[in-house]
Amino acid sequence: MLGWLLFGRGHRHVTAEMLYDEACEARISVSLATVYNTLHQFREASLLRQLAVDGTKSYFDTNVAEHHHFFLEDEQMLVDVPDGLITIGEVPEAPEGSEVVCVEVIVRLRRKNTRAKSSQQASQQLTEA
Ligand SMILES: [Zn+2]
Repeated sequence: MLGWLLFGRGHRHVTAEMLYDEACEARISVSLATVYNTLHQFREASLLRQLAVDGTKSYFDTNVAEHHHFFLEDEQMLVDVPDGLITIGEVPEAPEGSEVVCVEVIVRLRRKNTRAKSSQQASQQLTEA
């Protein structure tokens, strides 16, 4: 049931809490703990990837291919960066006994302060006049 909720809508990024809310809305009776366990089982089976954006929340991505993300701080939302927009420079060699699994970039975005922007425009107009 949870799998259907998770994978039935194309690629997406969810937290356990988001999926739990969706399950409640769909009248699927599960506990938040079950949702956590299910997500981690899917992750162990490589059907999901876990992304830690900050210390408090884990996002699970149904797209398991290597790709980069925008994180919209105002919405607390992850969005895939279209392919080819980010070029990775040199990656350091892995320390002995380990290997690089993948390199992923999270570009954090927040809305521009529109007030600061309009005062900037105003002062620009002043100088132009
Ligand atoms: Zn993604």
